[in-house]
Amino acid sequence: MATELHKFPPIEGVRWFNVAVLVLTPLAAIYGLVFVPLDRRTVIFACAYYLFSMIGITAGFHRLWSHRSYNACLPLQIFLMLGGISSVQGSCYFWARGHRSHHRWTDTEKDPYDSSRGLLWTHIGWILFKSKLRSGPVDSSDLGKDPLIQWTHHNYFPLAAFFGYALPALIPALWNDPWGGFCFSAAMRLTIAHHCTFAINSIAHYLGSTPYDDRLSPRDHFLSAILTMGEGYHNFHHQFPMDYRNAYLWYQYDPTKWFIASCKFLGLASNLRVFPSNEIAKGALTMKLKHLKQVQESITWPQAIEELPIVTWENFQEESKTRSLLLVSGFIHDVSGFLDQHPGGETYLTRNSGKDMTASFFGGVYRHSNAAHNLMSMMRVGVLVGGGCPPNQAITPSQVLFVATRQQDDRTIPN
Ligand SMILES: [Zn+2]
Ligand SMILES: [Zn+2]
Repeated sequence: MATELHKFPPIEGVRWFNVAVLVLTPLAAIYGLVFVPLDRRTVIFACAYYLFSMIGITAGFHRLWSHRSYNACLPLQIFLMLGGISSVQGSCYFWARGHRSHHRWTDTEKDPYDSSRGLLWTHIGWILFKSKLRSGPVDSSDLGKDPLIQWTHHNYFPLAAFFGYALPALIPALWNDPWGGFCFSAAMRLTIAHHCTFAINSIAHYLGSTPYDDRLSPRDHFLSAILTMGEGYHNFHHQFPMDYRNAYLWYQYDPTKWFIASCKFLGLASNLRVFPSNEIAKGALTMKLKHLKQVQESITWPQAIEELPIVTWENFQEESKTRSLLLVSGFIHDVSGFLDQHPGGETYLTRNSGKDMTASFFGGVYRHSNAAHNLMSMMRVGVLVGGGCPPNQAITPSQVLFVATRQQDDRTIPN
């Protein structure tokens, strides 16, 4: 905790309104858990209202208005806008501009939830405290011209009070449970919705894998996807933010994607944007090759041909009297340390010291495995003068597919 606080920028004040919302709301939820009896109808309604709030944020504030990843008809826009407002996270105009800034300036001082400031700051610190940090500029001209966004921005506080707190208490009043409505459908729902959404700025930049690019902090993880209706495939999302999907692979959990696709099926949404799969595959391949290259670099390979001494036939014969040297594919191998491990027996190796065993090794006596070929290449001690090496035998099986780095002229290679 102390190190997390250490990463905070200098604090210049407290946003008391936000503190009140984010402290009093969970307190009301806890009060309800202790003192208010649970009504089954209220619980069902609270769950449904939770989904309404979350889909308003994920399919509305995020994928529709922050990223314009699809078009929605007006009734769907109103539905998503009210859902987003009911989650009491600021107006859509405020939310979408902040989020665009986060994408444009990811992991920098101008990113409102800069991951280098630590989990606590990105989760909630930036909401509760004032600092000198300012979000970087972004183009939000489309949001400025959108009448629904502007009207809800200017009337945000009464709308949030009504859809965030009043309505979820009033509806359970129909079955005489207004207090249950307030504590569970309003306060408990909001507390869970708040922290699940905040998790995208904190956990989704901290926990998980980087299957598409690892230069920045966003990560893919099933846990953050579960918490956020599918927004947890955040590495994919930061690479392809205009894509209406966050989970690209069919087995990944993304109910927001399914919701948008269903809206398209019903004629409520159109122009669902997808990034070309060929380019997505390139990103995935780049990261796989990068991991493979790391494995490749952790392995010891045979000595380079040009580093091996060139040995005459006479020298080879002379040396082979004192140790077991075999000639295979033009390379002289010292197998002295391998005699008692040779599956074909020690005698076969000692008896043939000083001989060309290429034909025997490649099938004349026994067709050795790739593993044998790889192992033997580690015993190379010299190259025979004029010793011909068949082209398909110079490179060991494990080196046929080799991950190489190509030099770029004016850009540094990501590492
Ligand atoms: Zn992010
Ligand atoms: Zn986004």
